[in-house]
Amino acid sequence: MPKTRTCTKCKRTKPISRFIRRKNPWKTKTKYFHDWCLNCHAESAVAWRKANPERFKAYQNEYHRKKYHEDIEASRAKGRAKYWKNPEKYRAKQRQRRARKKLAAAAT
Ligand SMILES: [Zn+2]
Repeated sequence: MPKTRTCTKCKRTKPISRFIRRKNPWKTKTKYFHDWCLNCHAESAVAWRKANPERFKAYQNEYHRKKYHEDIEASRAKGRAKYWKNPEKYRAKQRQRRARKKLAAAAT
């Protein structure tokens, strides 16, 4: 196994740990790692997010919804724990949300 790999995007040679390992290497046989380094992957993910904010939001919602329903009790417990760690912060957020709703209702 080579110790370094050259990213095909930024053309930099980086240690193999900076590349994502493929989940199914036997499918491509020669490529055990992705062609892009982690940095380029992250950059392209950010670019995609900026280009497709709606799709990203939908994707994220779907992901969280799925996660939540996978183990509802655990999710609820987690949410509660988070809330009690800093209840004031959540109350402030809720106030903000309510105020925004009021504004939106007044505008229509
Ligand atoms: Zn790169």
